Formats: sequence, C-alpha cells, structure tokens
Amino acid sequence: MKKITFSNGRTVEVQCLSCALTSGVIEPEGGVVLETDYFHAHQDVAYPIKGLIILASKRHIKCFDELIEEEKTDYIQVLSKLRKAQRDVLGIESVYYFYNEDTTHHFHTWMVPRYDWIDKFGRLVESVRPVLLHARNNLNDNENMQEVMAAIDSLTKALNK
Ligand SMILES: [Zn+2]
Repeated sequence: MKKITFSNGRTVEVQCLSCALTSGVIEPEGGVVLETDYFHAHQDVAYPIKGLIILASKRHIKCFDELIEEEKTDYIQVLSKLRKAQRDVLGIESVYYFYNEDTTHHFHTWMVPRYDWIDKFGRLVESVRPVLLHARNNLNDNENMQEVMAAIDSLTKALNK
C-alpha cells in the first residue's frame, strides 16, 4: 500500500493511485476532464500549471505494448482531443509529453504545457522536473490555484459538449 497526501492535507492509502483515480475511489481535485471506456484525464493540482493534464488508462497495465487495439485507438483520439482543447481553450502552443513505464502507478501520460515563464528553466527534457517542482513549491498561491481550477473547468466544458 502507498500513502498519498493531498494538497489539502487529506491522506489515503491505495495500492495504485492510477487505479484509485480512474475507478473513482479518489476524485481528483477539479474533477475529471474527460473520460472514455478506456481512459481517464484529470489534472494533478499538486502541480499547479494551467492545462497540465494526466491521461491514465483504466486498466492496471504498465507498458505501451500491453494496450489492446481498442485502447490504442482510443489513446490517440483522446490525446489529440485533449491537445486540441489545450490549444483552443488555453492558447497552449507547445506541450511536452512524458510517460515512463517503471512507475508505481499504472499507465499514464503527462501533458506538460510550455509557457513563456518556463523558458528560464531551459528547454527539452531536462527542464521538465524543475518546472514541475517550481510549480509545486512556488505556484501554490490562491491566485494561481484559482486560474488552474478555472482552466480545468474550461477544458472540461470544451471536451464534454
Ligand atoms: Zn493501477
């Protein structure tokens, strides 16, 4: 079991955080952005960057080659839909995609938007972790959190009309 502590101080013990989120045992703060038969998209508000989306499979799998045909098709469609909404709703020009298989959670892809303020952390893959940590440690203020929640709301509306 893994103990998860939320930004509001609440803790919960789960086998796999992705299972808990995609099955609805844990409701992500801000809610579900988009859900299909095979995938579940939400923002981890512990990293308060507007439009940062985590796309997780519903099945407890780890690796890309474990996806069945229906999941592969759905994955690309959902990923493209999310990307389009990031562009149309939030004006996001570039996104970094991050996905690793040796995680304690199951299959999930991070979609990390680039903003002008991120340039000071450099570019390419080495900038991703510092940007996430900066967001978690320094952008946790009320004003930014409200913007993040509003962005989640706008994306959810655009993706579910
Ligand atoms: Zn799982």
